[in-house]
Amino acid sequence: IIRRGAAELDPAKRKAMLTFTVCGSGFTGSELIGELIEYRDVLARDNKLDPSEITLQLVEAAPTIINMLNRTQTGKAAKYMEKHGVKIMTNSMITEVCEDHVNLKGKDPIPTYTLIWTAGVRANSIVKKFGIETNPRGGRLMANEFMQAKDCNNIFLAGDSTSYQEPDQPRPVPQIVQGAEETAAKAVEGIIKNVDQTDVTIKPFKGAYQASVDSIGSKYAVAQVLEKWNVSGFIAVLLKHAINWMYYVQIFSGYYLFQYFMHEFFRTRNNRNVFRGWVSRAGNVLWSVPLRFFYGAMWLWDCWTKVQGSESWFTDKLRLPFEWITVAATSGASQATKAAATSGASEAATSTAKAAKGVFSLSYMYGKEPLMVFDKMPHWFESITKVFIPNMQMALFFQKFMTCVEIVIALCIFFGLFTWFANAVTIGLVVVFCLSGMFYWVNIWMIFVALALMNGSGRTFGLDYWVVPWMQKHLGHWWYGNVRSHYDGVKTR
Ligand SMILES: Cc1cc2nc3c(=O)[nH]c(=O)nc-3n(C[C@H](O)[C@H](O)[C@H](O)COP(=O)(O)OP(=O)(O)OC[C@H]3O[C@@H](n4cnc5c(N)ncnc54)[C@H](O)[C@@H]3O)c2cc1C
Repeated sequence: IIRRGAAELDPAKRKAMLTFTVCGSGFTGSELIGELIEYRDVLARDNKLDPSEITLQLVEAAPTIINMLNRTQTGKAAKYMEKHGVKIMTNSMITEVCEDHVNLKGKDPIPTYTLIWTAGVRANSIVKKFGIETNPRGGRLMANEFMQAKDCNNIFLAGDSTSYQEPDQPRPVPQIVQGAEETAAKAVEGIIKNVDQTDVTIKPFKGAYQASVDSIGSKYAVAQVLEKWNVSGFIAVLLKHAINWMYYVQIFSGYYLFQYFMHEFFRTRNNRNVFRGWVSRAGNVLWSVPLRFFYGAMWLWDCWTKVQGSESWFTDKLRLPFEWITVAATSGASQATKAAATSGASEAATSTAKAAKGVFSLSYMYGKEPLMVFDKMPHWFESITKVFIPNMQMALFFQKFMTCVEIVIALCIFFGLFTWFANAVTIGLVVVFCLSGMFYWVNIWMIFVALALMNGSGRTFGLDYWVVPWMQKHLGHWWYGNVRSHYDGVKTR
């Protein structure tokens, strides 16, 4: 309709075609207007229109909008909407919907070709056939304080289709997720009692709603927390995300949590996130491929000196600066080990001495000794390391093992296999090297390169191009089962 409106020459018809009217200013209507605010620019750009030509209208029969929240919060929401060009019409009841306009009770009609109806939630009409009392307004099934259907104590009710009003509350249980979960929990108590035939006393239903968040688009929200605190803007949007994160944690789904982050923050289009697009950019990772080859090759090169030649880590000479081992070896171990350890100790000591006169720099300084991040293991780290590497035998195994890990990681990065994970491990390794007193400030860029390469760089000219989709498919089946549509398997004639 917007495309047709953009080509329409009759001004009145054009205006009506470019008008979105949302009926109802509950959570759904106000959130929908928020989405339209953000899509208006996109629609205008795609249809070569001036955004101001697209009218957004919120029509509400009551004197105020978003009547589930307190006045302070709805005031803020209204201000935000108006600032973004939404025309809010209160005390306006839509009485008739026609093709090119809607009629209002006692007011001029609104010329519009698009009406989105969000006024009121009615229970599914099927519930009428259940023979249970329903409330006249939304057709919801009437429940008592134990979530039993009125006059039928072995039928339990829960969720949106249930109506129960606590004696001290002005309205029935709200049709929100928390309401659904809490009524379900109460119904379950009753069902268990009925099945077990026990005389457990069940407490009457008492709703407790932690927070209500109304997002007006992706960058603004208003919220009431525990019915005490008002939160708006950035914090309220973060609160909304936190509620969603909590859901994924509750269902133990790291995969969906990760996907949520990607969709909501890192892969959003048209700046549609609370950081206004600063954290997201859709683009290919081709430009990071040379860096990936370089970084992988650099780790391989680092390993090369450790696997061969006089500096090899695959001998019985300790290369790691573990003072507690070198001291112990000097005082009591066999001569051969002692010699090796002493030479290792002296190397560690030399490096410490060198580090002492190092100069801090993040780039190479000609003729100057670079500074170590830590010239000596911090005490807390030494205590932990001592637990895992208490003696020479373990230390020698560890230095060989670490070299093997480095080689695997380097190959993974170079060939783009499990690139995210491999780079995350290199960050871990760099941190461990820093804490072990073996890493210069001048090489700290390795952390930032690894972070940059975690952005899917193995998907281009790398094995992850095949491996990651394969894993997603097979791990997804294994963890979540086969996803099927509701109607799968239903034969149609
Ligand atoms: C646009 C929108 C936004 C919302 N946003 C929020 C929000 O941000 N926060 C919040 O807390 N709440 C929100 N809600 C409300 C929330 O979605 C509901 O309160 C909640 O889903 C109710 O759960 P329920 O299990 O009772 O019903 P539903 O989640 O609706 O589940 C009912 C299920 O029953 C199935 N069904 C229906 N009829 C039949 C039948 N005859 N046979 C078999 N199956 C049937 C349906 O397909 C559906 O899967 C929103 C609702 C809408 C519409």
